[in-house]
Amino acid sequence: MATDFAKEYQVFEEYIIKNNPDSNIKIIKKAYDFAEYHHRGQKRNSGEDYFIHPIAVAKKLSEMKLDEATICAGLMHDVLEDTPVSRDEMASEFGEEITYLVDGVTKLKNLNYTSREEKQAENIRKMVMAMSNDVRVVLIKLSDRLHNMRTLEYMTRKKQKQIADETLEIYVPLAHRLGIYSLKWELEDLCFRYQEPDKYYELAEMVNVKRREREAYINEIIDTLSKSLEDTGINYEISGRPKSLYSINKKMIRNNIAFDEIYDLTAIRVIVDTVVECYTVFGKVHALWRPVPNRIKDYIAQPKPNGYRSFHTTVFGDDSKPFEVQIRTRKMHKECEYGIAAHWRYKENNTNQTAFDDAMSFLRRIIEWQQEGGAKVDNQEFMDTLKTDFFSREIYVYSPRGEVYSLPMGSCSIDFAYKIHTEVGNSCVGAKVNGRMVPLTHKLKTGDLVEIITSKNSNGPSRDWLNFVKSNQAKSKIKQYFKKNDKQENIELGLNAVIKDIKKYRQGYKAILKDEWLDKIVKDLGFPSQDEMYASVGYGKTNAEQIVQKLLKFESDRKKETEIKKPTEINKVNTNSSNVNNQVKVSDLEDDVDVKFAKCCTPVPGDPIIGFITKGNGISVHVKTCPNIINSKSPERLIDVYWSNSKEDKFPVKIQAITSNGPSILYEISKMMSTFNVNILAINAKTDQDQAIVDLLIEVNNMNQLSDIVRKLKTIKTVENVYRIKS
Ligand code: MN
Repeated sequence: MATDFAKEYQVFEEYIIKNNPDSNIKIIKKAYDFAEYHHRGQKRNSGEDYFIHPIAVAKKLSEMKLDEATICAGLMHDVLEDTPVSRDEMASEFGEEITYLVDGVTKLKNLNYTSREEKQAENIRKMVMAMSNDVRVVLIKLSDRLHNMRTLEYMTRKKQKQIADETLEIYVPLAHRLGIYSLKWELEDLCFRYQEPDKYYELAEMVNVKRREREAYINEIIDTLSKSLEDTGINYEISGRPKSLYSINKKMIRNNIAFDEIYDLTAIRVIVDTVVECYTVFGKVHALWRPVPNRIKDYIAQPKPNGYRSFHTTVFGDDSKPFEVQIRTRKMHKECEYGIAAHWRYKENNTNQTAFDDAMSFLRRIIEWQQEGGAKVDNQEFMDTLKTDFFSREIYVYSPRGEVYSLPMGSCSIDFAYKIHTEVGNSCVGAKVNGRMVPLTHKLKTGDLVEIITSKNSNGPSRDWLNFVKSNQAKSKIKQYFKKNDKQENIELGLNAVIKDIKKYRQGYKAILKDEWLDKIVKDLGFPSQDEMYASVGYGKTNAEQIVQKLLKFESDRKKETEIKKPTEINKVNTNSSNVNNQVKVSDLEDDVDVKFAKCCTPVPGDPIIGFITKGNGISVHVKTCPNIINSKSPERLIDVYWSNSKEDKFPVKIQAITSNGPSILYEISKMMSTFNVNILAINAKTDQDQAIVDLLIEVNNMNQLSDIVRKLKTIKTVENVYRIKS
């Protein structure tokens, strides 16, 4: 089966001119003839002439819009290894640049090692070195590997498996790191096909079965979106992009789901001219279809570490079937397809120095790592390191919002939590990685999507976290937390918070911070000492406002004492026939002031109470701990009130019981109440599947009776909890 390479050349040249119109076709023709001549007679495993392979490699390089030197080197990439031509001979014919590239590619494979690991390690090491000198060498190597993978069917089963393994281990991550997605996806699918042929073909069949249905659905979406873009004047292209079999399989394994559960077998891709148009299209998409929450990924504003830029969103289509839309500019699209190759080209034209620099910074990190001693470590360790994270000592993980965070290798979820925010770290209680719950100490790897679960009830970080975290940031923040929880520091923080709060109400604070008053407040709030009270404010358990209001009250009381008693302003409030006046005595006031029990906290005799002078409606009596009193902005209107000793009257009080949802619960509660001779004013039960919440408004004589009732209610078997509601 001899190929007519003269005829083949016409096709090749057309292809080159289409992709690289400005290239020097003369030298390309020369390289073509030179390589064809020296490979003549050599055959591939398929039985075809060997030279079809270099042609395919050169075409791929031309597709990536690489320069003529790279295309020539692609045509001749096997000449030095597989033919008698010497390096000098090639250099004298084609010059140093092209020969350097061919030599580089040759050195990458011309290696003999005893073990596979050793060979791989050395391969990668060589590749890193080659890349640091000229990335084009690696691009030729990748194109070479792609064509070999495409023609792998002619190899033995054993060889197929071995080459596929190697490709997945070395070349796929390399293509990913260099951002060459077009190559990466094709290599992945080919690897999958040769590693697990049964699974591959089964999946291919499943994808194929619903192809027509899916295509109809995609076309419908494209039509709808096209219509809405018609009047925008945007020059757009819309296409449906099938998901690769490899990524479908990966998704099924990762999420442990069946093929039927994968909804986004196809994504819609919209390509436009400008970034502004990307966002316009995004707006149109969301106007047409409801977005799936947390699936908007703006890699335009925040590119992936390998330089990937695109806008992604997932929306609910017909029948709530979600699909993904990717929006990007033409330039971004080229960059996605060809990665570093695209950047390399920009550098040549000096149009996008920054993008190229971004891509190269990745290479620089590798080189630094090598210089730091990476190259000296033994091969096994080198391979281990590579397997954890390709080349880099950093890992890149994603937040649920798609933001990329870099962390030192070996970092766990706690490192990530502190990277997001100190508070997230301090209150984290769990983590989900790629949608699954993991321990906080779970080590993260590049590409993980990490979601931190926080809780307000978290007890803060644990000291042994210091043994798990890798990043200095997390370490110092955990240490800082414990320092903060140092008591002395909390006391100071608390005192400062109280002082700051006082200053909201009055000038100066020293006169109001009287030990005499403070000691009373300390006792009132149940603290053993002032320090304990301040510390509690310091770590946020007690509200400074609460203390300050009490201090202000003491101050206003003292002022009242020292002032000449004025006739009260609320003397002549219309008196209702409320019997409250008989129960509560108001200090310093005549008896004919209207006094009412506040509806918010419904005090019962025995409760510590306080009066509040309302505007034109007498005095309302609150429980001292009522939030309305504590948070009152008018402490000057508070007035002392006392219980009188009459025991004749009853007081309404609200209680709530949480019960398991037995059918007889209302009966049992009312039976219990009747034994106390208590009047039920209202009863209301809310139930769900396994619980009932029973609200009761009852009349009691005093606090003691109320306590008895609550205690007794708790003895009912189905009652889980009973408490009084004060608001
Ligand atoms: Mn080759």
